[in-house]
Amino acid sequence: MSDHRPVGTLGGSATPLAESFDVALLDLDGVIYRGADPVPRAAEALQAARDAGMRLAFVTNNALRPPDAVAEKLNGMDVPADVDDVVTSAQAAARMLAERLDEGSRVLVTGGAGLRQAVAERGLVPVDGADDDPAAVVQGYDPELTYARLCEAALAIRAGRLWIASNLDSTVPAERGLLPGAGSFVALLRTATDRAPLVAGKPERALHEESIRRTGAERPLVVGDRLDTDIEGAVRAGTPSLLVLTGVVDAAAAVAAPAGQRPTFLGADLRALLQPAPDVHVEASSAVVEARCGAWCCRAEAGALSWHNDADPDANTDANPDANPDAKTDAKTDADDGLDPLRAACAAAWAAADAGNEVRSVEGDVPESCRGLFADDC
Ligand SMILES: [Mg+2]
Repeated sequence: MSDHRPVGTLGGSATPLAESFDVALLDLDGVIYRGADPVPRAAEALQAARDAGMRLAFVTNNALRPPDAVAEKLNGMDVPADVDDVVTSAQAAARMLAERLDEGSRVLVTGGAGLRQAVAERGLVPVDGADDDPAAVVQGYDPELTYARLCEAALAIRAGRLWIASNLDSTVPAERGLLPGAGSFVALLRTATDRAPLVAGKPERALHEESIRRTGAERPLVVGDRLDTDIEGAVRAGTPSLLVLTGVVDAAAAVAAPAGQRPTFLGADLRALLQPAPDVHVEASSAVVEARCGAWCCRAEAGALSWHNDADPDANTDANPDANPDAKTDAKTDADDGLDPLRAACAAAWAAADAGNEVRSVEGDVPESCRGLFADDC
C-alpha cells in the first residue's frame, strides 16, 4: 500500500484508491444521490471500484429510513446494495442503548420507523410515553413530530433518563430547500431540559465504529460530501477520507476547511476512487506558503493565492483554453481530473491559515477549478 500522509492533510496514493483501501464507507446524500436523483456517473464508478476489489458500505446519518428502504433506493439507482451493506445512525444509536441498558428495557422513541426498528432489533422495547417507565430516550428525525411527543421526551429527559440522539444534522436537504433536521429538535429539547444527549451519528464515533465492525475493514476510506460530519468524523477516527464535490461542499468551502475537517483526498466525484491520488508538497516560510500538485504550484502570500503551471505558464489563462484539453471533459478516466490547481490551493490555504495568515483573495490568472473561491474574485 502506498504511503499516506497523516489524516487531515492532502496526501497521495500511488495506486488507485479502490486498490489502496479495502472498504469505502460511503455517505449517501450528496455522494451517490441528491434527494431523489442519482449523482451522475456514481453507479458506474462504484461498480468499477468493486471490480477493482473494493468493498462498499453505505453509511448514513439519516435515522428515518430503515436499512432495507435505503438498499432498495440504491438498487433502484443501479447501485447493488444488500441490507447488511447499509449502516444507519439509528443502528448505531440502538447499539449505544443496548450497551448501556438491560435487554428488554423500555426506550421512549422520538423518531421515525428506522429508529423504532433499530431499537427493537437490539432486544429493547420501544414505548411512546414518559409514564411507560422508559429507561432511556432515543431521538432522531421524525417527520410526524408533534408537540405532545416532544413533551413526553422532555419529561423523561428531565426525570434523568439516558438520552441518545441519532445525529445532530441541523437540516435535511429536500426538493424545496433545507428543512429542519434531527439536530434542530435536539436543540429544542436541550433548551427545554438543560441537558445534552449522547450522539451516535457523524462526526461522533459510534456510527463510524459500527461501520468498521460490520465490514471488518482493515484499511477503510471514508467518502463524503460534508466537512462537519463525514470528514470531521474521519479525522477524529484517524481514518483517511475522500471529499467529493457533488454535494454541499464546493471548491470555496474546501479551501476554507478548518483544521479537523480537512480531507486526505479531493475528487470531483466518485470516479476519484478509480485513480491514484497526486502527491501534494508544501513548503512554508514565515510569510509565504508554496504548495505543489502535479505541474501546478499555488502560492499563498499576504492573504492572497496565486498560481503558476511549471509545464505550461499560460495554462490558466482563457487565451489558451487548449492547454489542458482533458481537464474539463466529461466521462474521462485519465489521471488528470483538472483539480490539481485546487489541491495545491487547499494545501497552501490550509498551511497559511494554520500559521495565522488566512487567505481572502486571489491574484493573477485563476485556473478553471479555482474560480469563485472568494466572494469578490469573480
Ligand atoms: Mg452527505
